[in-house]
Amino acid sequence: MNIKMKDVTVSFKNGVTAVNHVNLEIPQGIFGLLGENGAGKTTLMRVLTTVLKPSSGTVLMDDLAYSEGNYEKIRRKIGYLPQELNLYPNLTVRECLEYLGELSGVPRKECRERIDEYLEKTSLAEHQKKKMRQLSGGMKRRVGLIQALLNEPDFLIVDEPTTGLDPEERIRIRNLLVDFSKNRTVLFSTHVVEDLAAACSRLAVMKKGEFLYTGEMSELLQMAKGHIWVGTVRNEEEARMWEQTCHITSKQYTESGLRVKIISGEKPGPGCVQPEITLEDAYMYLMNREAKN
Ligand code: ADP
Ligand code: MG
Repeated sequence: MNIKMKDVTVSFKNGVTAVNHVNLEIPQGIFGLLGENGAGKTTLMRVLTTVLKPSSGTVLMDDLAYSEGNYEKIRRKIGYLPQELNLYPNLTVRECLEYLGELSGVPRKECRERIDEYLEKTSLAEHQKKKMRQLSGGMKRRVGLIQALLNEPDFLIVDEPTTGLDPEERIRIRNLLVDFSKNRTVLFSTHVVEDLAAACSRLAVMKKGEFLYTGEMSELLQMAKGHIWVGTVRNEEEARMWEQTCHITSKQYTESGLRVKIISGEKPGPGCVQPEITLEDAYMYLMNREAKN
């Protein structure tokens, strides 16, 4: 399944434009949406779920346009895990999922089979009799993921599924998302660069309602190459000298001095070298370039 957004804008009544003339193509597989808080990720995702109508622009799911007459059809192909998820605290995991399956109109027998299958896949089978309120944050997220998958969606939209979880649980969720993207389109939003880098090879970087980059992560890293340097200075004062002409993104004391990471179009000093670029570096580079414009 292929999703296209063409010149989509969302302005709220309070005057905030959360999504500003964006164009995006989301192909089959897993696609990352990276941006700090307030960038517009949730708003964009709510448009894609059909819950929120854009102020202008068009959205296409394959050849199907997001329009009043098609919403029913489109919704049936979508699974959504919202950022804030509050599932019935007094129901057991199983009861909760069966109830949600019923609500979304999945035939009972199929629903039960899918619940079994996904409880197994998400390592929750042994916890299915627990009440929702007894689960850890990560387990609740996993139940949320199952909930989003009950109608076997072709397009799975997950909003900050790893936020607030411990590292082990974050890795587990990332792996599940990659697994679930084998036969569908998955849109995964996060403000955690590390989570995105681990799960996605394609992404959009969002800031203030606009995309700073969309495409292959490898190309983004390539773009940042030549702009990121590391060097060692003796002390903070020497680092401040450099700060007058270039942007320092991190400082770390080592045995040989103060190691600084710098964003600069040209070599900032004789001892500087170009490091292996990470998504974190490239993200900093994009943010810095944006700040200068
Ligand atoms: P993100 O998910 O990246 O943190 P959001 O899409 O939630 O970003 O928000 C983007 C901007 O839109 C923020 O400035 C937010 O305050 C604003 N916003 C979001 N929803 C609404 C709304 N319903 N009414 C008014 N402003 C909103
Ligand atoms: Mg959000």
